[in-house]
Amino acid sequence: MTLLVDTPPGAEGLVVQRCGLWGYNSIGVVSGDEACAVDPGITPEEVLAFRRALESGGRRVTKVVLTHSHHDHIRGWQAFEGAEVIAPSAVANKEAGPRERILAGKAKVDERLGVEDAGFQYPAVDRAFDDHLTVRVGALDLELEFLPGHSNCTSVVHVPALKALLTADYLVSPGLPYCRWEAAPFEAANRRLRELVTDHSVEQVIPAHNDLITGRAAALHAIDEELAYFKALRQDLAGRLDQGDSTDRAMRGAATFMAERRGVDLGPRARQDRDNARRVLAELGGAQSK
Ligand SMILES: [Zn+2]
Repeated sequence: MTLLVDTPPGAEGLVVQRCGLWGYNSIGVVSGDEACAVDPGITPEEVLAFRRALESGGRRVTKVVLTHSHHDHIRGWQAFEGAEVIAPSAVANKEAGPRERILAGKAKVDERLGVEDAGFQYPAVDRAFDDHLTVRVGALDLELEFLPGHSNCTSVVHVPALKALLTADYLVSPGLPYCRWEAAPFEAANRRLRELVTDHSVEQVIPAHNDLITGRAAALHAIDEELAYFKALRQDLAGRLDQGDSTDRAMRGAATFMAERRGVDLGPRARQDRDNARRVLAELGGAQSK
């Protein structure tokens, strides 16, 4: 693990720790003697190191924000005693079935990593929000905004004073959107991100995985890549269905087309192209035709 971004005690800013798995970024927002941990992960050792970075110089972690309930994002929520746990209502109110699937997914990864985490529980959320919540950390306001699309429970964190936008699993791999729920809301979420970047002069985008995006132009370019991807995918799929392709054939054909369009071989990660195609097909009504 490495600190990609650090802010000295007393100052305002971000602390970003890169984890060993999935290019995962644990993100802290610090101001004065306070800190907020956003989606702290991934292994207990990494969470502990992240906590130490946040607590440097006597800062206290008063809040833990969970952007959504995918298992990589909720792993560290219990590590900050006394901190208020904040998440969308869709995370807090998740039903028993989905909770079990999330915990089973986490246990599988723990096994693979050799992590012992017997005391882990699904997050107990102290403060839930429906659409929007402003949270104070030191002298900073954090604007939490519900933005489903990646999952049905995803939110993002905007810190206007830092011109920073924490996009959770949006913009983690521009040009290969990670849509794990529905395509249309995913696109709407990206249009909202575009609005936030433009209207609030966002200069730093910090996704939960992979590279940080610096500068407004780069942020807008990344968002536009995601939107262009779905536009091309929709168009290609519609054409294939018009020609009478079965859903399965259209899905495979479109995934190949999207990979060729990208012109870069992403290896196994490109499986996400099929997944995205499936999600668009479900909307086009292709799901019933086969
Ligand atoms: Zn996710």
